[in-house]
Amino acid sequence: MLDAQFIEHNKQQLLAEREKLLEDMELLKQTLQGEVDMDLEEADPDIIEREKSATLLEAMEAKLADVEHALKIIEAGQYGICERCGAEIPKERLEVKPEATLCIKCQSEVERMLRRGMSPQRSRWHFPVA
Ligand SMILES: [Zn+2]
Repeated sequence: MLDAQFIEHNKQQLLAEREKLLEDMELLKQTLQGEVDMDLEEADPDIIEREKSATLLEAMEAKLADVEHALKIIEAGQYGICERCGAEIPKERLEVKPEATLCIKCQSEVERMLRRGMSPQRSRWHFPVA
């Protein structure tokens, strides 16, 4: 089992991460917005940059969702337990990846399913968190 101190430490890390992501996303959105307002008739040498920013924004949104999900799990008192199979997630894994809510085995299985376009069927998980 994880001690309360460790969970609190990771919670603070996740909160800081969320703060930083929200700030960065806001900046990025403003940049994107500013560029969209330009005269679209003109050839736009920044188009590749803009696409990069959009991809980056998507990645940040996905990360933010993970972070917020992990915070929900902490609030529910289920942190450190794989939400799919109920196994304990090793502390070492949570140290490098505080937003992890799946054990490594489930994580790779879920990723494989998603790559094949299959749904991981969250409702049948050990601990389904909306
Ligand atoms: Zn698992």
